[in-house]
Amino acid sequence: MGEIEAQESWGFDTRAIHAGQEPDPTTGAVVPPISLSTTFAQDGVGNTKGFEYSRSGNPTRTAYETQIAALEGATHGLAFASGLAAEDNILRLFKAGDRVLLGNDAYGGTYRLISKVHTHLPWTAVDLLDVDALAASWPKDTKLVWLETPTNPLLRCFDIEAICALAHERGAVVVVDNTFATPYLQQPLSLGADLVVHSATKYLGGHSDVVGGFAAANDDDIAQRLRFTQNAAGAVPSPFDCYLALRGAKTLAVRMERHCSNARSIVDVLIGHKAVERVLYPQLPDHPGHRAAAKQMRDFGGMVSFTLRAGQAAALRVAAATELFTLGESLGAVESLIEHPGQMTHASAAGSPLEVPDNLLRLSVGIETAADLVADLAQALEQA
Ligand SMILES: *Cc1c(COP(=O)(O)O)cnc(C)c1O
Repeated sequence: MGEIEAQESWGFDTRAIHAGQEPDPTTGAVVPPISLSTTFAQDGVGNTKGFEYSRSGNPTRTAYETQIAALEGATHGLAFASGLAAEDNILRLFKAGDRVLLGNDAYGGTYRLISKVHTHLPWTAVDLLDVDALAASWPKDTKLVWLETPTNPLLRCFDIEAICALAHERGAVVVVDNTFATPYLQQPLSLGADLVVHSATKYLGGHSDVVGGFAAANDDDIAQRLRFTQNAAGAVPSPFDCYLALRGAKTLAVRMERHCSNARSIVDVLIGHKAVERVLYPQLPDHPGHRAAAKQMRDFGGMVSFTLRAGQAAALRVAAATELFTLGESLGAVESLIEHPGQMTHASAAGSPLEVPDNLLRLSVGIETAADLVADLAQALEQA
């Protein structure tokens, strides 16, 4: 099968387009085929060509797993049916009583999965910004640090290297949710993280047409245990989903560059606008975690959040008034989206330590013409 390992010397873009994607040896097809076969012929019992049954392994999935692992600088990549399925499989590596240290701003579904499904895992939600304070208040039984940076939806950034050093000193494993940054902007494994997790539904896929999850690691033992649960619990993506995510990820670098530059144009409109109370974007010097972001990220990403002076009602009016920014959940695709986290993506965090401000709006800035996005947001803000 056509999976080739990325060569050490390859740059990011070359890995995205070639890792795992050698032309098919029998037909010369340049694009990895969508292998729909659920079973693979054996040449004598147990004598396979590397695949036996598609839940355990599938050629299209292998191509995609090789590609994304190469982008994260990982020796192991595992694809799952959704970001939450990837997270669920990672949480299954831990046993009853192992404490999870969770940032107090995180994807609502992650919080729900830990607090409502993995109820045998105690958790503490903390501010990860001040590493010295974190060291001083470190809960003793912590076995896992769940680190999302930039966070969803407040875009706070945390020092991956410093937190990994502290966690390792205290005997905990660090998982970084790299959904917002993507490996193009930030590579957590190189900063000491044990695992990287993704909602591939977002920037990796990049076109709002596939739900997927991904986990990457360098540690052989962690990867082997995850590979076991991937097969044993069976939350795997279909070959078609793998094909779509692989196809999307080929253009990750060029998309991310445009997402970042368009986000800057949007930030320029929001800053100083009379209806806007606060702009949240990691590039701003007073943004929580700006220094960590500047140190560990290539650029500052395509997500922008902001609060409105006139409160929730104004936020809801603006969200309803945009035309190019589609009102909807999700993020990270070519088209621009706007949403109200309090009533949409983060409704499950209401009343918890992860509750978000009700006058907050979150933008996923797409790759349309910047001037058109700016004009659309400007007209919508007149409703604030
Ligand atoms: C969407 C998202 C998830 C969950 O991924 P799904 O693919 O929706 O299951 C996890 N983390 C972050 C940061 C997300 O934005």
